[in-house]
Amino acid sequence: MSVQSSVLGFPRIGANREIKKAVEAYWGGNSDAEAVLKAGKDVRVKNWQYMNKAGINHVPSGDFTFYDHVLDHIQFLGATPERYARHNLSDLDTFFAMGRGRQVGAVDEAAMEMKKWFDSNYHYIVPELSENTKFQYRTKKIVNEYKEAKEAGVETRPVLLGPISFLVLGKAARDASAGFEPISLLDKLVPVYEEILKDLKAAGAQSVQIDEPILVLDKAAPLGEQFKSTYAKLGPAGPAVTIASYYGRLDANLEYVKELPVAAIHVDLDREPSQLDALIAAVKDKKTAVSLGVVSGRNIWKTDLAAAQVFVKKAVDALGADRVIVASSSTLLHTPVDLNNEKKLKPEVKDWFSFARQKVHEIALLGRASNAQVSSEDSQALEENKASIKRRRDFETQSNDAVRQRVANITPEMLKRKNPFPVRREAQRVKINLPKFPTTSIGSFPQTKEIRIARQQFTKGDINQQQYDDFIAKEIQEVVRIQEEIGLDLLVHGEPERNDMVQYFGEQLEGVAFTSMGWVQSYGSRYVRPPIIVSDVSRPAPMTVRWSKYSQEVSSKPMKGMLTGPVTILAWSFPRADVSKEIQSKQIALALRDEVVDLEKAGIKAIQVDEPAIREGMPLRQGDWAPYLQWAVDSFRLSTSGVEDGTQTHSHFCYSDFNDIFSSIKALDADVISIEASKSDMKLLKAFQDNDYSNEIGPGVWDIHSPRVPPLEEMKQRITDMLKLIPADKLIINPDCGLKTRHWEETKASLLNLVAAAKWARENY
Ligand code: GLN
Ligand code: ZN
Repeated sequence: MSVQSSVLGFPRIGANREIKKAVEAYWGGNSDAEAVLKAGKDVRVKNWQYMNKAGINHVPSGDFTFYDHVLDHIQFLGATPERYARHNLSDLDTFFAMGRGRQVGAVDEAAMEMKKWFDSNYHYIVPELSENTKFQYRTKKIVNEYKEAKEAGVETRPVLLGPISFLVLGKAARDASAGFEPISLLDKLVPVYEEILKDLKAAGAQSVQIDEPILVLDKAAPLGEQFKSTYAKLGPAGPAVTIASYYGRLDANLEYVKELPVAAIHVDLDREPSQLDALIAAVKDKKTAVSLGVVSGRNIWKTDLAAAQVFVKKAVDALGADRVIVASSSTLLHTPVDLNNEKKLKPEVKDWFSFARQKVHEIALLGRASNAQVSSEDSQALEENKASIKRRRDFETQSNDAVRQRVANITPEMLKRKNPFPVRREAQRVKINLPKFPTTSIGSFPQTKEIRIARQQFTKGDINQQQYDDFIAKEIQEVVRIQEEIGLDLLVHGEPERNDMVQYFGEQLEGVAFTSMGWVQSYGSRYVRPPIIVSDVSRPAPMTVRWSKYSQEVSSKPMKGMLTGPVTILAWSFPRADVSKEIQSKQIALALRDEVVDLEKAGIKAIQVDEPAIREGMPLRQGDWAPYLQWAVDSFRLSTSGVEDGTQTHSHFCYSDFNDIFSSIKALDADVISIEASKSDMKLLKAFQDNDYSNEIGPGVWDIHSPRVPPLEEMKQRITDMLKLIPADKLIINPDCGLKTRHWEETKASLLNLVAAAKWARENY
């Protein structure tokens, strides 16, 4: 035996977004189930054959999905909630009904809840569990796909999300009794996994990968007994088990993981290279193999193969070649499919990257190199890799020195406004002069079909810059006029010129690269193309001043400038791997700081810097939170502190779950924050009171995530409730998020109610 190679999972969207096209055509009634299933099979077979041909020993199967792999598990483990199951739809339609809701004929079911998947931008469907959940081996997806691959000539290693992660990632269903913990269902669930494993073995599978990503969370620490009893059953039940952790480090959980009767343990050495030594020591006297995640599943940088070989060699020296597997650090689903689809990147930039298909070759090559089985082609590839990595390193050391100097020279004064909030507040009263209970919105207004068409025409060259600019100007005028008519106090320009709140800035910043086909699944059929931070970031010219200034010129009401914050821009991009996130965030912050000051100079009196991603960017281990929050808060402050006292800074968060980060939200010291509060969660507002929050707050009075128009009475009630906990002179009245996905009809109606509610509050409080 020798060193093996494996891929933990592959993007399931297709190299040309085939799955998006197929499922959306089906949802729109423009194709049938057969066409969808065929598109799925085509993509799967292509992926398997690609990996097989590249020489990967363990090619994954079962990881494909039409929507979300956790949702697949909900269905094939028999955990479909009754409200979807009762309609007697086909399996495919039930699956989509759970993922995205269904309003057809007599069926009217909302989608199941979706949550961020660990610290990535992928979202999964949350299993709903209760004492009444009856698991069963409901559909044969996993074994069927294994057989399908075999028919296509590829022996695969099926992938399952492990039972403990499945339960821990789930939540109590509505019918669960108080205090119900999903993990209490483990004994009911494990037998279904045993059945699946037996079935796989009967079909001929040699090995199986069981993902237990929760092993990198603090939460897994008390679950050692559950892991032991579960894997005592799953280990011997069927094919040889590789238990996979990823996105972080096992830490103390390794103490029990090393005792599990499994064939191999996979760890993520891209995120946490330091865990290799502990892993080797832990299994040295056993037979367990180690699977080393040395090729990143999370970023798009070419792997430094020589560096990776050092890790592999260390393991081989300690354990022997037959106990070492080289692998992707996690599934490759977070990376775009194929770098060869990029036709517009400069060759020297393209040379830095490696997308899923390129990573497959890196892994296979590493496998061969570790066995000293290199062909002349392989040794040429290794040489080319070395040269390419050197070019990248040289570039890194030579990039923008001025920017680095500026970061090095950040002083404590630059992180602070000139005066404390009470002083600023007086200056802002004079300068902006907003009424009590000022009304405002979060920034975007409906992105209509006309806006999307104009942008497409402009991108394609069907209309020129002048025509596009005229279109945007007209849109802004219209949005301003509507806001004036409705009677809002602090206006916005509506963001019609922005395709996306991160991409719009990325495209104007130096040091950021863009792909044309670098799609990554965010959820279901929604794919995003994250910007790539490739070098030191700077702002060659103002980015938003023109349109903000224009909007202020066409209105007599004060206008709020609108920026995306540094932490969010970084979180929704592929970061550099050669410098810390802290440095990258501060570079972006300095660019934004200049923008904020330029907006002020252009006559903008209020400036909002959105940071919806601060929370989701939190490290997976609580022990790592403090340094993260420190640089996140500093970055925000750096970007907003360059202005005079009279300029009002705003920030917005699309969530309200602040409990564990309250002091950091407070430390941002934004003059005004707007937050989600649609669930009218009084506990949240109580937290503001308990924590002596002194600045102004706008807890959303309108849940914009549905087309429903909240009646005036409801908004009044919400304001009344809020005033029990927030002082009247600190309360701002606004919706709970941007309006870009709404239609004009409900937007206008709701804003009219919002303004009327504020007026009512002024008269009564
Ligand atoms: N200003 C942005 C908008 O209104 C904020 C988006 C967000 O909250 N994610 O669209
Ligand atoms: Zn929001």
